[in-house]
Amino acid sequence: MTDPLIDKPRICIIGTGLIGGSLALALKHAEFCGRITGAARTEATLIRALELGVIDDYDTDMQAAVADADIVVVCVPLCAMRAVFSLIEPALKTGAIVTDAGSAKQSVIRDAAETLGRHYTNFVAGHPIAGTERSGVQAAFKELYRQRRVILTPTDDTGPDALHRVGAMWRATGAEVETMSADHHDLVLAGTSHLPHMLAFGLVDCLNSLEDVNEIFRFAAGGFRDFTRIASSDPVMWRDICLSNRDQVMEMLDRFHTEMRAIYTAMESNDGERLQAIFERAKKARDQFCG
Ligand code: NAP
Repeated sequence: MTDPLIDKPRICIIGTGLIGGSLALALKHAEFCGRITGAARTEATLIRALELGVIDDYDTDMQAAVADADIVVVCVPLCAMRAVFSLIEPALKTGAIVTDAGSAKQSVIRDAAETLGRHYTNFVAGHPIAGTERSGVQAAFKELYRQRRVILTPTDDTGPDALHRVGAMWRATGAEVETMSADHHDLVLAGTSHLPHMLAFGLVDCLNSLEDVNEIFRFAAGGFRDFTRIASSDPVMWRDICLSNRDQVMEMLDRFHTEMRAIYTAMESNDGERLQAIFERAKKARDQFCG
């Protein structure tokens, strides 16, 4: 009897939460790989992932978990990347590819360059532009990456074969793969994802500190819910993104502060024309870019 899993890459996913779990489900659905082994911080997560059919097996010893893997995908919070790379490096087999799903790329590349040793040329930094405000393996679903973008940020050291195989892995999930430099990625994502999350967290925190908070939230309508949905995202993940993409997020916050100041000043001087001009410019840009 032929084994359909033979000759397909063995994959180890470290961090079987929303992102790693959804990747595992999508790859299984696409029959892209052989066995998928899970590793995480706690055994409870791995037992749950096994029960949900997300992984085929797991090992609580991360070195043992990666030992047979052809592709290791690290899907842990950004500030845990370096420790995971250091721990698995001695146990990786020759030729094993390592990739990640972290939301900032320059910091992960630095971590990988400093810890992965001879395996660094087989490291491909990646970021799926997909997610929800939920986290944990119970939130994982196989369609998460379908028709979404995955950005790979190779460096001059990245081996072409590793880049090709990681691209093929993400395409198997239904995603469209693009490559760009890590610094460009971090700047673009600071504007399109990281700043909006800061605004949502900041807005809810600001209103929450008001005396009439219950009355305010009682009358919060659909627009408020839409705008603040992402403030329900995981605080640890967002702490790590702020610390890992610090300069770019701070630059965006500075720009946004200047914009808010301009609105404040126009209101202070009853300058309706100026206010309308700002809003018209923003509406035109939004209508153009978001259809
Ligand atoms: P998640 O659902 O909270 O899952 C995180 C996983 O990492 C869990 O399995 C957790 O295991 C494990 N983990 C946490 N700390 C660890 C450590 N120190 N060592 C080993 N494993 C550890 O988070 P996620 O949303 O999947 O995010 C994972 C990565 O994807 C992050 O780097 C994030 O920046 C990136 N990302 C997230 C999104 C999004 O929208 N959520 C989108 C794109 C990229 P335990 O449960 O046992 O703690």
